[in-house]
Order: sequence, then structure tokens, then C-alpha cells
Amino acid sequence: MNEKKNRPGTICVHAGYSPENGEPRQMPIIQSTTFKYESSAAMGRLFDLEDDGYFYTRLQNPTNDMVAARIAALEGGVAAMLTSSGQAANFFACFNICEAGDHMISAASIYGGTFNLFAVTFKKMGIDVTFVDQDAPAEEIEKAFRPNTKLVFGETLSNPGVRVLDLEKFATIAHSHGVPFIVDNTFPTPVFCRPFEWGADIVTHSTTKYMDGQGVQVGGAIVDSGNFDWEAHAEKFPGLTTPDESYHGVIYTKKFGKGAYISKATCQLMRDFGAIQSPQNAFYLGLGLQTLDVRVRRHNSSALRIARFLQSDPRVKWVEFPELETSPEHERQLKYLPEGTCGVMAFALDGDRDFVEKFMDSLKLATIETHVADCHTCILHPAAHTHRQLSDAQLAEAGIDPAQLRFSVGLEDPEDLIDDLRQALDKASEN
Ligand SMILES: *Cc1c(COP(=O)(O)O)cnc(C)c1O
Repeated sequence: MNEKKNRPGTICVHAGYSPENGEPRQMPIIQSTTFKYESSAAMGRLFDLEDDGYFYTRLQNPTNDMVAARIAALEGGVAAMLTSSGQAANFFACFNICEAGDHMISAASIYGGTFNLFAVTFKKMGIDVTFVDQDAPAEEIEKAFRPNTKLVFGETLSNPGVRVLDLEKFATIAHSHGVPFIVDNTFPTPVFCRPFEWGADIVTHSTTKYMDGQGVQVGGAIVDSGNFDWEAHAEKFPGLTTPDESYHGVIYTKKFGKGAYISKATCQLMRDFGAIQSPQNAFYLGLGLQTLDVRVRRHNSSALRIARFLQSDPRVKWVEFPELETSPEHERQLKYLPEGTCGVMAFALDGDRDFVEKFMDSLKLATIETHVADCHTCILHPAAHTHRQLSDAQLAEAGIDPAQLRFSVGLEDPEDLIDDLRQALDKASEN
């Protein structure tokens, strides 16, 4: 089966595992830390990277590899690795080519956890990050480059702002400076957007979100397109193009070709940091992926119906969802995400904090929680939760409306969700 010829819905079900005669139909869990060998020499060849094979699950595990292959096929990449979380994926993806004394450029509209990793922890590690306004003209963004810049980073659809990144613009800017473009594609998933088709080189995921989809396990993934030519920019990427003394002098680009980047991340970073996904969690992720195509289309179509309902209710001040014709993101959505975006939106009520609180407390289906992108609809009030220490004036400075809500549409029937929102708006409006 040539997986690349199939559409996402088929890849979700089949890629990464093809049972032979009499083998289990479902992908098996190989819940084992170690693997047995017949001779000392056979084991030695594995350590020398001479033979392919499993020896310790911190480095590689068959279940993890099957699930990683499914994600690689979905993205149209050549290789992938699973990590213990999305945070670990973004950390490894950057640290694999960026070290103390280096610099990188990131879009400013990114997930708060990633922003913190870049702005605070990377700084402590000696890596400087410049944040740029993703909608700024290319000439403006180019000014952020330095001789030691090693990569450009952004999110296809930002969490939580659901802003659409101009992938072609970012890829062109990165490549004209001889560095790769890394994209966190968590929110749209490869069902709605495959950033490699727009010039991205590396894709990352928090598989905790739609890929798992049920809210059962935290995980991450890194996928390599195999397209970036490390050797053409060898002076910038010595970690890939010169001998790794900590691994028997291997030169990753020479030994692994298009698999160089992921092999280095496995042999060095996973070996030393150990942020591996457990085979049990990888199995759950594989199950989630089987239904990803069906689920994200439903999340998205329900979200659009709900966004239109909210837009039509006078008690709602504004709604931000890229598919709405009124959205400033709409034009880029049509280009990069023509089949859909995700199930997350922001909206603000026309009322004070008390009104919002009464509305939230009256909801019966949408649960109040700090999560997004799984089968349960959930809602968060930034002014009362993630940003509660800020005054209204400080909120305004941060671009947050005190009456703003983040809403993640789950897999419930959309008409029931609309009924729930309507009754909560009615309750909050009673005196
Ligand atoms: C949640 C999230 C992360 C972090 O992932 P974890 O699995 O929670 O570590 C990174 N990027 C985006 C876009 C996310 O939504």
C-alpha cells in the first residue's frame, strides 16, 4: 500500500501497521523496557548503529514507532518520533539544532507554555529568542535575523487566539536565511493542514489535543519532511554534519540521509533527556488517530454552527472564529485551511464580569476547565482564570476583553450545545 496516495481518513486507519497472516488486526502494545539478543556481537552492532533493532524503550519501542509512522504518513514526512508531551516535542525540535550561544525567531502568537519555554527557560540555557508579529511584512520580520539564527518557529493556528499563520511567507523568510521553518500543527491536525505542502521543514504536535481526542493521555510528536538540506548550510548545523563523539563519531547527515534530524533527536536528546512516551500511551494515541479524520470534521462543523448562533445573539459582543466571513483570519483560512480549522473559538459577552460569571455557572453541558481540543466541550474565562491577577486596565493592555471566553467545542450534538448556551444566556439576563 502506498500510504502517500491515500487521503487522511484512510491513512488514519491504516498507516504504520499492516498485520501479516494470523497477526492481530489492532496494533499491539509492546509493553517492554528491553529486548533480548542471541549474541553479544548482535547487541554490539545495535549500539554501533550498524544494525536496526530495538534494545531499550527509552530510545525506541515498536508500538511508539508504529504510531510515529502513522503521524509521519499523515503529515507527508519521512520520519517522526513520539515524546512524552507537546512541551517535550517543541523543546526537542528546537534544541536539536539550536544550542547555547544561538538565536531563534518565533511568532509571538503561540501557546503560553511554548512562549514560556522560549522566553524564560531557553534564555537560561543560553538561547535567545526574538518574538515577531506574525502579520508584520516580511521585511520587518527579516530584521530579527542574526548571524547565529538557527530556526524560525510558529503555530499553524495559534492557541488560544486561533490566528492563521502565513506559512508560505514564513517558509520563504526562513529559507532565504538558510534555516528551517518549524511549525506546531496541533490545532488543525494534518487532516486540515499539512504544513510541509507550504514549505515547512519540521512539524510538531501536542498529541494531547485532537490526536488523542478523548482527554486520556499527554503526549507529543515531531515529524521531519526530510526536505531541509543541512549539508548546504553545514556551518550552521555542525551537530548534524560533523562527527558526534558521544555516539561513536557518527555523522548524522552521512549515515541517515533524510532521516538525519530525527535520528539525532533520538540518539542524543531522547538518550540524554529521556522524555519518552510510554508504549501504553502510544497505543491510546494510535486508537485516537484511527478516528481523527471523522472527529475533527465534526468538531469543526459544530464550532461553525455555534459561532454563527453566537454571532446572531445580541447578548454576544463579538465572536472570533476563522471561518466567519467577518474574521480578519478568514482570507488566510481559505488559503491554508480550506476544509476547516478546529473546534476552538473566542467570544465575548455584552456584559460585566458578574454577567459572565452567571452565564458560566448556568452552563450544563460545557464544563469549566483549562483544556481544549477533546471530545468534551469546555469553556474558560481568561479574566477570572488564566489572567485573574490582572485588573480590567491591565487586561486591555494584554488585548483581553474582561468579558472574553475561550470555548472548545466537543463532540456532543451541536443543537444540544446551542440550547445550553441559549439557556445560560437567558439565566444570566434574568434579574
Ligand atoms: C497544549 C499545547 C502544547 C503543549 O502540549 P502538552 O502536551 O500540554 O505538553 C504545545 N503547543 C500547542 C499548540 C498546544 O495546544
